Amino acid sequence: MSGFLTKDEINELNPSELLPHATPIPTQIVSSDEYTPPPQSAQQKQVEARLLDMADTLGKHQGLDRRRFFQTAAGMAAGFVALNETFGNIFEASRAEAATPAMAQERAASLKDQFIMDMHTHFLRDDTRLVNFVRSREAVGKAGWNPSLVDKPQTLEDLKFNNYFKEIYLDSDTKIALISSSPSEIPRDWFLTNEMMIEARDKVNKEAGARRMFAHAIFTPGYDGWLEHLEGSLARKPESIKGYTVGDNTNKDEAKHPWRMDDEKLTYKAYELAVKHGIKNVCVHKGLFPRATAEKYPHLLDYAAVGDVGKAAKDWPQLNFVIYHGGYRHAAGGRAEDGWEEFQKTGRVSWVSDLAEIPEKFGVTNVYADVGQLFAQSVAAAPQVSAAMMGILGKGLGYDRVVWGTDAVWTGSPQWQIEALRRLEIPEDMQKKYGFKPLGAADGPLKNMIFGGNNAKLYNFDVSKRTDIGPNKDRFALMKDQYEKNGPARSNLRYGYVSGPVDWNAFA
Ligand SMILES: [Zn+2]
Repeated sequence: MSGFLTKDEINELNPSELLPHATPIPTQIVSSDEYTPPPQSAQQKQVEARLLDMADTLGKHQGLDRRRFFQTAAGMAAGFVALNETFGNIFEASRAEAATPAMAQERAASLKDQFIMDMHTHFLRDDTRLVNFVRSREAVGKAGWNPSLVDKPQTLEDLKFNNYFKEIYLDSDTKIALISSSPSEIPRDWFLTNEMMIEARDKVNKEAGARRMFAHAIFTPGYDGWLEHLEGSLARKPESIKGYTVGDNTNKDEAKHPWRMDDEKLTYKAYELAVKHGIKNVCVHKGLFPRATAEKYPHLLDYAAVGDVGKAAKDWPQLNFVIYHGGYRHAAGGRAEDGWEEFQKTGRVSWVSDLAEIPEKFGVTNVYADVGQLFAQSVAAAPQVSAAMMGILGKGLGYDRVVWGTDAVWTGSPQWQIEALRRLEIPEDMQKKYGFKPLGAADGPLKNMIFGGNNAKLYNFDVSKRTDIGPNKDRFALMKDQYEKNGPARSNLRYGYVSGPVDWNAFA
């Protein structure tokens, strides 16, 4: 498999993780319009202190420094113990698990073959200048959400393909990923062009010898020549299409072409083309538009909300509409605590509740919610509201219409998000008060649906033909076996696709 990632490229990926870096943890969260979590709340500070304390006591007992402890299953468990101790028992996790590597490892091993289909992932083009996402990863590390990012200085390289590959297919239990993008009025600021997504998909699947990556084509109603662009993109056979109703989410100052999903004259042309090309799933970015953003860009507010979803879904029953981030408003500069406060006062969360009411209001069954930042931005900051939102979506759309997407790698390897859903339960009093159905076991029927079953149905993927398990494993599965056997931080780690051993100790 040489030629996929070269030895030099692999070498470049890991040293920062292994070196005892002189760079201190960033002491200030740099604010970004995109996905950067807000400054730590008092509770998040408690979580971080508890987490670091466990690393220093339990980890030390296990002969591991902080960074290595965080790379273990016990370190992952410690993260959820810290959350429980701060917010109440919302996650299935125990101190015994954090203190007993064998116990934590056994649990991780028992779940690692779970079918996880993540239809919302990103990496950035090689010539990107979107440094905000670097700050995002640093902030997530600093907030203690993703233990593997604690103490790890981030660079633009972490957002590019090689690290994406490692974080998705080696560091997490993700089996299939869809590569997405985001458009901009400034051509070089597209995360990836439609061509780049198709190239990445084809390269990955060729190297895996199996279907491990799917791809979006982005559509941009109102941009010059947008329909021709979409038609050209559809000819290259993406698995689904995705649009941003605010027009340009990356550079909102430049957004000149916002659009509505139910615009019969404009957007319906895209749906027509999609149907013609056999596309079934239309993905739309919604939400992530807190009050501060609305004040700055009032003309985009209605486009960011979900008021246009119902009519489009009703008019196009042959299509499925997958609303990314579940329309969750309080992220990208908002605070999960605001969502929790809103829920406690009103029993609603903007605009997740509005989305969840669409089936009843419009009599439709083709509206889905991707969990994306809805989950990532709340589950470690105010996990009660994550639980509430899962309940709201499950009750309104049905748990068979809640689909897994992580928005990785903006918040690092998605393994912590996977573990968060595996361990999350809606508190009993909340279940009773609002009529929410419990989520159940990590690998119980509801969570299996959310992690993979629902997406498999949407994308017509035959789960009985999985290539990541069984006697005829594909190359990625073999590579991951090897990777896990050696341990992510051990010396002489061999990848299936490099010719010789890589001596990780050379960097320490
Ligand atoms: Zn995204």
